[in-house]
Amino acid sequence: MVEKEKRTECYKHKWIPLLGIDKKKSVPTSLFTCLRCGDLKVGVQTIKISQFRLDMGGLPINSVAGVNLINGSSVDTLPTSGPASGLIITANVTTNSQGIGAPLYVDISGNLIEANALSSATSPCVALAVDTGTGANKRVLVHGILRLSAWNWATGPGTLSLVYVSTTTGTLTQNKTEFSGTDRVIQPVGWALSADSIYFAPSMIYLTHV
Ligand SMILES: [Zn+2]
Repeated sequence: MVEKEKRTECYKHKWIPLLGIDKKKSVPTSLFTCLRCGDLKVGVQTIKISQFRLDMGGLPINSVAGVNLINGSSVDTLPTSGPASGLIITANVTTNSQGIGAPLYVDISGNLIEANALSSATSPCVALAVDTGTGANKRVLVHGILRLSAWNWATGPGTLSLVYVSTTTGTLTQNKTEFSGTDRVIQPVGWALSADSIYFAPSMIYLTHV
């Protein structure tokens, strides 16, 4: 089934310049707003600002001292776009039986497939599913925070808070006894921020059990 792209854009902007006031006189500015949707833009084609985005026309954002990720304690405090915040890309996800939070590895064709720590043939995990299901344009988290109410992680020093790819396909684990067999992959992919959220920062260095 082909999913139709959701159109949330205003089809026909009606730009009006916002007037500035200088010494009680109205002066034109280069700041415009759309009477229909309320978008703001600066100049003719430069920076566009709407409710949830700052559109730089493909240009980089420079001089940013930091990026604040939303570490939501509930779904309500996370972005409406989903349960994750951070670096999110779209990719072709070809298997996903576990849904949101499933660890994924890259196959020989560049597709993302649910990872399993049984061997390096199904590892390493490079992303977590942000969307359920499979398809060409599924969102995956490559670095950042993901929250799932079904999770129940431990936090603590040493390896206590570390989260690994599990030997159950498409799931994560903190149970290190899963890696005791031959060829098992030991790949930390993040650490628990709380019982139901992790900071996902997958290690590209992993060990296999001899
Ligand atoms: Zn508009």
